[in-house]
Amino acid sequence: LVSRMRPFTSTIFAEMSALAVRHDAINLGQGFPDSDGPESMLDAARAAITGGFNQYPPGPGVPELREAVAAQQLDDYGIAYDPDTEVLITVGATEAIAGAVLGLVEAGDEVVMIEPYYDAYAATVALAAGVRRTVPLVRDGDGFRLDRDALASAFGPRTRAVIVNSPHNPTGTILSDDDLAEIARLCVEHDVVAITDEVYEHLVFDGAVHRSLATLPGMKERTLRISGAAKTFHVTGWKVGWISGPADLIRAVRAAKQYLTYVGSGPFQPAVAHALRTDMDWVRADAEALGRKRTLLSSALSDAGFDVHRSQGTYFVCADPRPLGVVDGAAFCRELPARVGVAAVPVSAFVDDAGPWRHMVRFAFAKSDDAITEAADRLRSL
Ligand code: PMP
Ligand code: GLN
Repeated sequence: LVSRMRPFTSTIFAEMSALAVRHDAINLGQGFPDSDGPESMLDAARAAITGGFNQYPPGPGVPELREAVAAQQLDDYGIAYDPDTEVLITVGATEAIAGAVLGLVEAGDEVVMIEPYYDAYAATVALAAGVRRTVPLVRDGDGFRLDRDALASAFGPRTRAVIVNSPHNPTGTILSDDDLAEIARLCVEHDVVAITDEVYEHLVFDGAVHRSLATLPGMKERTLRISGAAKTFHVTGWKVGWISGPADLIRAVRAAKQYLTYVGSGPFQPAVAHALRTDMDWVRADAEALGRKRTLLSSALSDAGFDVHRSQGTYFVCADPRPLGVVDGAAFCRELPARVGVAAVPVSAFVDDAGPWRHMVRFAFAKSDDAITEAADRLRSL
């Protein structure tokens, strides 16, 4: 294995899911829902398969999906993208991230990212032989905010891109308008491309509003905006993602993407187009249900003795087990499935500097109420 990939031999999600299976544990580790998306979308996928959509789709993605993606962004954020030149369908958000980084980052270029970061960012920057610069989230009441001084000092002459993930995996933080404005200011000042990972854009709670960085002044022309079907429509195995941005940046992403997978997910693309056009009410109802599940799991964790952080969106809530006498979150997660029959993931897998995050544990609540209630009972026995 090449040296730059040696730190990335196995993902924490695969490791913890394998432990969950081995111990028949309730899997609150890897972020996938335990129910499938809207029935009409599943029907549309079946119809696409029997209707002959089983060969290579067009390189940029099927036109109806590109059009549906552009229409949704116009409706939700007032951002207009040309579906022919400014939208690219990818094999999950993961390939959109990889295509953006591999298409834009020269060896030695720096990429700024928020810490904790989704693991694929670090691995992909390593694949591009880029250098990651991390900016920590810091405690703010029972939630988190960006460390603005660290943010400003992370930007410099070698900065090529910043990866911004809000709503944020793993903490469930929605970056404040002030944090977004500061990121935008730095991008403009240093002529940096923003790669925004917005896969949880619709999954926000308590009336919170998700703002897209691309809507800020000076940002649309320098932002690559990523989202996908996996989390929005409960189809993590379909691997349908997309990336939108100015045509010159999309051309760069497409150059890399066409040699990563060329194309993917043929019959699922029209099904996701159908869902974007007709199932957004399902998504809104799902976000409300997820908000309730967030509350159910958060109070169960609190009852079990954890210090629980506020999750404003996503599938996840983070909790501090130190009141239970636990200081090493990774060791705790490795023993949890055998001990009480629940799996979770340690936040230390998402950071460079484990220090402030060493104890912290992420739990996924995109599960049936029964699964959450049973997990809660088991955790109370800790
Ligand atoms: N970004 C974040 C923040 C994620 O949590 C995930 C997992 N859904 C991805 C990207 C990858 O998305 P996909 O499964 O569509 O590749
Ligand atoms: N996005 C999911 C999570 O954060 C997992 C995706 C994966 O297994 N790589 O749990």
